[in-house]
This record gives sequence, structure tokens and C-alpha cells, in this order.
Amino acid sequence: MEPEVIRDKDSMRKWSRAMRSQGKTIGLVPTMGYLHEGHLSLVRQSLALTDVTVVSIYVNPGQFSPTEDLSTYPSDFSGDLTKLAALSGGKVVVFNPKNLYDYGGETKKINDGGGNGGRVVSCVEEGGLGHETWIRVERLEKGLCGKSRPVFFRGVATIVTKLFNIVEPDVALFGKKDYQQWRIIQRMVRDLNFGIEIVGSDIAREKDGLAMSSRNVRLSDEERQRALSISRSLAMAKASVAEGKTNCAELKDMIIQQVVGSAGRVDYVEIVDQETLEGVEEIKSGVVICVAAWFGTVRLIDNIEINVSL
Ligand code: AMP
Repeated sequence: MEPEVIRDKDSMRKWSRAMRSQGKTIGLVPTMGYLHEGHLSLVRQSLALTDVTVVSIYVNPGQFSPTEDLSTYPSDFSGDLTKLAALSGGKVVVFNPKNLYDYGGETKKINDGGGNGGRVVSCVEEGGLGHETWIRVERLEKGLCGKSRPVFFRGVATIVTKLFNIVEPDVALFGKKDYQQWRIIQRMVRDLNFGIEIVGSDIAREKDGLAMSSRNVRLSDEERQRALSISRSLAMAKASVAEGKTNCAELKDMIIQQVVGSAGRVDYVEIVDQETLEGVEEIKSGVVICVAAWFGTVRLIDNIEINVSL
């Protein structure tokens, strides 16, 4: 049976509170839709951990800059419902709000998804009419994807906070595919005392190793083939570390050569501490190797955790 769809925030909160009054625990899986096995693995985990699961499907305009792919972001709402209907093991509802930045009045005019090409703007940037309150996780948001996407994590942290306040979940699940995002949300929950457990879930991959992503559909067959250089070079780097090669400059060079050799345009290759996300020169403790690269017009990210105790 297809899951119930809740479209507005008041009904969502009411539903959650009714569940809670029945003693049920609530899991939240925030997504932007066009669901694939990576999303579904989070939903399955949530079903195992909690009594009821809310899957939010909302393409958050607040995390896209004007030059990014908001208007071409793929969607297939009815396909998403079919995929969720096929899951067993507990109750799923879908929260699919139209616009979480519309508070009526002037904000309606500016944030109605129209005049700004669907963009949500800051009041400081737009003479007082845009969105005013933003969550910033100051240090963690700066490196990696934050360098080339300066408003991205402020948009993510803000929308996740909104979802937490509307859904009031006990547990929220995030994929380690978006490693920096997961660490930022963990830190935000700690720093702002949200009473929500954050679970990070392993990366779901296609059989050939490509990390699953809604954006993969926009790769041509040839680009998709070339994009395998990301996951392959990450796996090779991990094997090299196991053989004792712990110099990060050399490991990064090896990955860059493979991606560039496959006609990818590297945004960054970084080897960082798993918690602070600060760059390291020599691998001595747990790190994560993170890659962002363009194939054609599609920007892909991937990473691999390396746990060592030397
Ligand atoms: P998105 O719809 O891309 O915003 O992703 C929604 C959630 O699914 C985020 O927590 C992502 O990290 C997670 N996710 C996306 N792709 C994968 C994947 N391949 N494996 C595991 N989690 C994923």
C-alpha cells in the first residue's frame, strides 16, 4: 500500500504528536526525492530502529546557489511512493511540503518559488525581504564542499533544523555518502541540544562501485563509465594505505591522476580527520578520503573511510 502523504507542516506536526501520544518512536529520513537504494537503505534502517518512519521529500531551494542545478534536479514523486510502498517492516509516511520558506506576507512574494527561479535568498542579500534565520556550523562547513558551494551547508543545516522542529523525530538518519553533511548535522545536534539521535549509514553503491546518487541519471553512458574512476581510485588508495603508504600528498596525487585521466574535472581530493574534517599529511589515525569531481555537467561526490590504529 502506498504511504500516506502529508503536505503541510501543521498536519505533519499533529501526526507526529499523535504518534508520540501513543508511545511510538519516530524516525526521520530527510531526502530530496528521486529515491534510490541508498535512500531506501536509510528507510529500512529507520524502520528497524523506530516504530514509525517519516520520509521527507523536499528539494530545498535554500541550499542551491543561483548557478547550481535546482531547476534540473530530477524528480519522480509517484515512482518514489511506489518504491516506499514495496518496503515492509513498519509504517512509513511521506512529508512533501510545497515550500518551507513561505511565512505569508512579503516572504511569500520573495520565497514563493517563482520570482527568484525558485531560489531562497537571505534578507541581507535581498534588502530585507528574504529568509533571516540561518544555522551555520562555522568550522565544519568551510572545507571540502563548502569551498565551492559557500551557501550549501547553511541551507542544509537550516532545512534540517526546520524538519526536526516540524517532525520532532527521536532518530534521524543520514548517509555517509554526504560525509561532511552527516558530521555537520551531528555537531549541530550536539551544540544546539536537539534531543535527536543521529545515525550515519554506509554508502550504497551500484554493482560496479559507483556511489548511488539521484544525479547519476544525468550522466551519459560514457560519463558514467568514466566516473567509475572515482570509486576505483578511492578503493586503490585504501589498499595502498593497508600496504603502508600513508603519505597523503602521494595518495591524493594518485587519485587526481586517475580521475583526470578519465576526463573528470576535480573539484577537490582531500584526506581529512573523520571528526574535525581537517586535512592531514600522514595517515596515523582514522581518516576519510573525500572526492568531488565533475563529469560533464554533473558534480559527483564520494568518499572512503580508513580506520587505522598505528
Ligand atoms: P539526497 O536526496 O541526495 O539529499 O539524500 C538524502 C539522504 O540519503 C542523505 O542523508 C544522503 O546522504 C543519503 N544518501 C544519498 N545517496 C546515498 C548513498 N549512495 N548511500 C547512502 N546514503 C545515501
